[in-house]
Amino acid sequence: MSHGVDLTTLNALLSLFRKASTQASWRSALEVLMVELRSFFIFDNIAIYSSSEAESGALEVIYARALGRGKSAEADAAWGERVAGEVIANAQILLQIPPRSNLPNTGRLELPYTLGLPLLSGARVLGAMIFIRFGGPPFEADQIHLAALISAWASCLLERRSWEETYRQLNEVQYRIRLQDDFLATVSHELRTPLGFIKGYSTTLLRQDTKWDEATQREFLTVIDEETDRLAQLIDDLLESARLQSKTLNFKFQPMRVDALIRDAVIRFHQRHPEVVVRLDISPLPPILGDTIHLMRVLENLFSNAVKYAPGSDIEISVEQRGNMVHVRFSDHGPGIPPEHQAMIFERFYRVPGSHASSTGTGLGLYICKQIVTAHRGKMWVESEPGHGATFHIQLPLQPDEPREKGDALCPSVC
Ligand code: ADP
Repeated sequence: MSHGVDLTTLNALLSLFRKASTQASWRSALEVLMVELRSFFIFDNIAIYSSSEAESGALEVIYARALGRGKSAEADAAWGERVAGEVIANAQILLQIPPRSNLPNTGRLELPYTLGLPLLSGARVLGAMIFIRFGGPPFEADQIHLAALISAWASCLLERRSWEETYRQLNEVQYRIRLQDDFLATVSHELRTPLGFIKGYSTTLLRQDTKWDEATQREFLTVIDEETDRLAQLIDDLLESARLQSKTLNFKFQPMRVDALIRDAVIRFHQRHPEVVVRLDISPLPPILGDTIHLMRVLENLFSNAVKYAPGSDIEISVEQRGNMVHVRFSDHGPGIPPEHQAMIFERFYRVPGSHASSTGTGLGLYICKQIVTAHRGKMWVESEPGHGATFHIQLPLQPDEPREKGDALCPSVC
């Protein structure tokens, strides 16, 4: 009897491998392989486990499918775990044949023929691939050879998976480094500019050889005053973002009304920008448990961004109750934010390229806003159609999910 794999099967397998290798990701390659494999390799169930977590005893199920009679096994791949553990521990093929049953009514599902193959990369065991046939036919030698070929290919896919993951992590690190670099450049610029003004105007005022009239002195002092505020704001942002990151920012949660907070914020804003039209659509709402100072900070950031990025635009704010949430919409009619940047603007240091030629900023404002809202167990996002303005949405729960003590709390782990 020949134990060789026939040429037709080998050819079919080869073209399947070729087809799978052109897939964009390891997962779709595996999917193609597993789905089409059954046309020349009989099995009911298949599962692939990764042993990366083996030290902790848990195997990760990479793929599981119950194609044939044992469809009930599809939901979980626990059926193969014991065999997989053994295959991984011994780094060897394992064949299990069901004990002969004398009972006439033994169901096929009670007679599993199991074939376990290790997935290897050199001497390293990456995982295991388990095939099951319920009620036979038994795995013959040529089929075991064929399965070994398939498992060698699956091992390459597991390798590819770990490379893809490493590649993703590297990209992420590279992205973070770039943000940090941009941030350093921005912060040094943002620190130097006000310092330059403060130094220049104070030196001018202190000159012994010139006398300045009162109006000029006032003008210079006003610049010094404004630039000092700008510096203080930058330092506050830096500290606040560092505290949010290290989860050490203190929150004082008290019953408070968002509608009242917004009215206060608008009054404050109008003191500085009486020229900007703010339209309000607000009705009294039930209180939330919130930190007034931090939520005021969120609104101030949104106002300041609207002035910076949508100059000359009206601002519209509406608040309503939606279920057990308070929903705030804060809109301007400025240039808006391109879709590919909308999720990113809430990241630390992120600024939309090209949007801030004439505006100051560090890319911390919206990060701080979102973290504060998240600390209230709320949500914050933006909707924007470029050219038609931006709408920032904030949802805050009327009642927290779990009872929370009134008073001080550190920024919870959601930050
Ligand atoms: P900063 O204003 O310091 O750059 P933010 O975190 O407040 O940082 O904002 C991040 C980026 O989001 C800004 O650099 C800007 O590109 C964009 N952005 C924020 N608000 C608006 C807005 N209302 N309209 C258009 N773009 C905005």
